[in-house]
Amino acid sequence: MNQNRLWAKKSVTMLALGAALLAISGNSSAEQVAGGVPTGSAVTAVKAARMLDVKSGQWIEHAVVLVKDGKITAVGKNIAIPNGAQMIDLGSRSLLPGLIDMHTHLTGDPEFQGYMAVSLSIPRVTLTGAKNARRTLEAGFTTVRDVGAEGYSDIGLRDAINAGDVPGPRMMASGPALGITGGHCDDTMHAPEYKITSTGVADGVDAVMKKTREVIKYGASVIKICATGGVLSFGDDPKASQYSFEELKAIITEAHRLGRRVAAHAHGGDGIKLAVLAGVDSIEHGSYIDDEGIRLMKEHGTWLVPTLYLGDWLVQNAEAIKLPAPLLEKAKVVLPDARKHIAVAIKQGVKLAFGTDAGVYPHGLNAREFAVYVKLGMTPLQAIQSATRNAADLLGWGNQVGTLEAGQFADMIAVDGDPLKDITELERVKWVMKEGVVAKGVQ
Ligand SMILES: [Zn+2]
Repeated sequence: MNQNRLWAKKSVTMLALGAALLAISGNSSAEQVAGGVPTGSAVTAVKAARMLDVKSGQWIEHAVVLVKDGKITAVGKNIAIPNGAQMIDLGSRSLLPGLIDMHTHLTGDPEFQGYMAVSLSIPRVTLTGAKNARRTLEAGFTTVRDVGAEGYSDIGLRDAINAGDVPGPRMMASGPALGITGGHCDDTMHAPEYKITSTGVADGVDAVMKKTREVIKYGASVIKICATGGVLSFGDDPKASQYSFEELKAIITEAHRLGRRVAAHAHGGDGIKLAVLAGVDSIEHGSYIDDEGIRLMKEHGTWLVPTLYLGDWLVQNAEAIKLPAPLLEKAKVVLPDARKHIAVAIKQGVKLAFGTDAGVYPHGLNAREFAVYVKLGMTPLQAIQSATRNAADLLGWGNQVGTLEAGQFADMIAVDGDPLKDITELERVKWVMKEGVVAKGVQ
């Protein structure tokens, strides 16, 4: 919560700065440049042939959105545009809220899996993050939850974006993921004599509680944990649970007490259930979710964040990125299984928020996840809701992002066609605005 207030304060300062710069330069088109100068106190009117109300699923024809100081002030059909407003006319295009990805690793790239990661410094991957932040924003994702980065590279990136130093999506970031010794969130590539342990490793109730406090101390605005084994790690089993119930409970209780939500990486059915019973806010991946897990998630109101498109990309590109053989073998088994089980969870009505695991595959392709959800049984509207209002709810930012309504941040995208008819329209985002600033012009 404090963090949110801090961010709000920062963006107000940014806007004041932007207004001053505009006054000096007199360059009213400056905000058309990616990462450009905020629009300051002037009103901007965005016009488009139609706009999607993601709550009702209805199109609003002849849509106008008025923007001031980075926020939406009014929205509707043919509403009056104040004199002197700067016009952005998107013609026949369709307007939607900025998209939200609940599972990214902005400071990671696919060719850095396994041994290829060994020589990369934290400063180097942070700059990789700056490149990926821009790509993600230009793909229409104006908010992300970044879940798991060594060395707090994601926290540095988040703060640089908030300061206006680099363009990128609004980030909720976890810093290092908490995990057990030798688990998915530990470094298991090195021989014992190297004595390498990942930053987030902690075992036992006291140690995990301290680690939770430590990552919050260094800037985590969400806590990421590894509740089961994973695919892209050596020597562990995705189906096996890792943290004990007592450890999970300690982390989640402490995080909630300090105002942070908790996202649990969990493939195996047992780890999913333990995390849900311990009160976790979201299950990431959920590959082996079973009937009991589905029932518990519905009972506890736990969110599911599947990450499914990556299965296609990883298997197709394993050779090109030199994915180590033991990891590819796991991917070939787990990722197709995940689609079968997630399809059941969708059918049973588990609350679902959109996630990709971008970083395991190239950033900017995030929207390819939508078509997989539709293939597994969601309607296009449900798929869009998973990346807008649902994701905003899971962030706890439902009154700031996820819908186009007065009072929300002016985060919006435009596409040529109708994504309710063809969901892949979202893979071809033509225009992006974040907080009143145009991040991508019409192409
Ligand atoms: Zn991940």
